[in-house]
Amino acid sequence: MLIGVDIDGVVSDSYPCWLQELNRHFGKNVTVITDYQMNVDFEVPSEEINDFFVCHAEHLLSMPEVVIGAKEGIETLLREGHELIYVTARTPAEKDVTVRWLTTKGIPHEHVLFTGFASKVDIVKQRKIEVFIEDYLVNAKSIAECGVPVLLLDASYNQEELPSGIIRCMNWDEILQGIRDIQAKEGKIDK
Ligand SMILES: [Mg+2]
Repeated sequence: MLIGVDIDGVVSDSYPCWLQELNRHFGKNVTVITDYQMNVDFEVPSEEINDFFVCHAEHLLSMPEVVIGAKEGIETLLREGHELIYVTARTPAEKDVTVRWLTTKGIPHEHVLFTGFASKVDIVKQRKIEVFIEDYLVNAKSIAECGVPVLLLDASYNQEELPSGIIRCMNWDEILQGIRDIQAKEGKIDK
């Protein structure tokens, strides 16, 4: 299958680092991100968060660790014959630091698309992506609405009830199982 894979919160364990750096920058002690738009928990205008990210992009994008099980999960999917495309809302200006991070962490990355502020749905349709791995519920919903199943990696900021077409996965093992279940349902493999 052709699988779309988000990066932040799915492959890169970005949020714990960003939480720590934002706490330091804003002099706060936020312990849990409850809203994907981090200005909500930090109670600052979204422009201030955006400015912080623009000024410190290199540091903020190169420091995170890999999400537990992501590297092995990606390797397993490739070994099982799937094709992967990373689709990230990072901007094209962040391409170099992103590719460097993937290389440093030993994560296979043949195709990486940077949507910036454009919709991931357009990419999903253009590329005929068959299943998508995501952590941001707004993206997950819009992708699922086009009939493409989404595996949502569980996070503190995506705890809402899920509509049909979105399957919550607690870790990468469950993502791998989710892919197999979708294949079995579509008659592509025996379960
Ligand atoms: Mg994400």
